[in-house]
Amino acid sequence: MIRHVEHCSNYNHSRPDAPVRYCPMCGEVVNAKVGQKPCSQDEHAKSRRNQLNFCVDCGEQLIKTS
Ligand SMILES: [Zn+2]
Ligand SMILES: [Zn+2]
Repeated sequence: MIRHVEHCSNYNHSRPDAPVRYCPMCGEVVNAKVGQKPCSQDEHAKSRRNQLNFCVDCGEQLIKTS
């Protein structure tokens, strides 16, 4: 049995060319080829409404879990 590196269940991890830099669920870099871009509080608010734990553009944690 092949042991995979443990990633969360987000589909971006299984894609060789994910359209985003960061995984919205665990905040890991899924595609380093996608450039990091500064985002606004507006975009973060939108992502938060979409229940994303992390911003896919800058990797910032949006929803604090603790
Ligand atoms: Zn993930
Ligand atoms: Zn961001």
